[in-house]
Amino acid sequence: MALVDYKNEMVLQRTQMVEKQLKSRSITDPIVLHVMELVPRHLFLEEGLGFRAYDDCPMPIGYGQFISQPYMVAYMTQALQLKRTDAVLEIGSGCGYQTAVLALMAKQVLAIEIIPQLREKSLTALTKLGLNNVLLKLGDGRLGWPEMAPFNAILVAAYSETLPKILFDQLAVGGRMIIPLGPENNQKLVMIVKDENGVQRRQILERCRFVPLVNG
Ligand code: SAH
Repeated sequence: MALVDYKNEMVLQRTQMVEKQLKSRSITDPIVLHVMELVPRHLFLEEGLGFRAYDDCPMPIGYGQFISQPYMVAYMTQALQLKRTDAVLEIGSGCGYQTAVLALMAKQVLAIEIIPQLREKSLTALTKLGLNNVLLKLGDGRLGWPEMAPFNAILVAAYSETLPKILFDQLAVGGRMIIPLGPENNQKLVMIVKDENGVQRRQILERCRFVPLVNG
């Protein structure tokens, strides 16, 4: 009984998260809103922190890493303008929550995480949810996944001082890439679009705060 109550409470909190943190800000894409309402974010947090999963802030996921604030996940997902047929590369999949959101919107998600324990835990959570269109590799995401390239979208969830050219080269023509660019205390969220005419680069958030994209 207690378990059922907890589950209902989480559903309620998720609905409120969508109303108060997403709809009231700039999230308007109905599919993004729907998916954020569906994915049980609390299952990706450490035991004992689940009850704070729907708070309007990032949360620790262990190993000095953080799950992004729900609004940030929704904002980046919306900006990627995913299609059902898209292949997405995610760098720094951490606890796997953003991976699950992407997996429900795209055809396939190729995710790379550098911390083995996070890879293991996120894989367990993603498998539990039955998301079988995700491949999650342990390794240095700065190298991308050349065998699976090109990608229609690339999402980098850790900041870099410069744009990693290798990742950009793995973007398909018509592809979109989102990456926080540093320095650490002055990070901007940047969107790169590759099309037939070349490359467009624009800032989509003036301020953001991510952990660093580390050397493998
Ligand atoms: N979207 C994730 C964010 C986790 S924080 C979530 O919601 O949980 C960023 C993640 O990037 C961390 O898990 C960190 O281990 C990972 N990371 C940092 N540098 C990396 C690299 N070079 N390759 C792959 N993952 C990296």
